[in-house]
Amino acid sequence: MTQERGRAGGSLKICPRCGEPYSYIERVVRGSRVYYYAVHYEGYVKSGDKIKKRVRKCYLGPDYYEYVSKTHYNLGITLKGLHDSTRAISYLNNLLNTITHMKMDAGTLKTTVNILESALTKLKSRMGTGSASNEPADS
Ligand SMILES: [Zn+2]
Repeated sequence: MTQERGRAGGSLKICPRCGEPYSYIERVVRGSRVYYYAVHYEGYVKSGDKIKKRVRKCYLGPDYYEYVSKTHYNLGITLKGLHDSTRAISYLNNLLNTITHMKMDAGTLKTTVNILESALTKLKSRMGTGSASNEPADS
């Protein structure tokens, strides 16, 4: 028995680890942490009179959020891992881009402008005070 392999270029998902198409993403919860695996079906093996599905899993790490990000797609956000120190700025940029093009009523618009003005005031007050960096100053 041979299994037909999907052709690249279709709606196939490509595993970022091995570059092969995967069947689905498996989400494994251990304690409070979540790990993601790309699951590849690799046909079947006969073992005695039983037929077993052959599966290969590629570990994608706890930072693979593409699968989860679909729920945030309408906000223009692709979730990133904790190790990505620029993610807050990246989220903000994408979110602002979405917000500035979003339809909203007068009340929501006023609230949004107030939030942004408040944030701007706080950020501007940090400019030139040396608190813009987390790095300790040289002595
Ligand atoms: Zn893989």
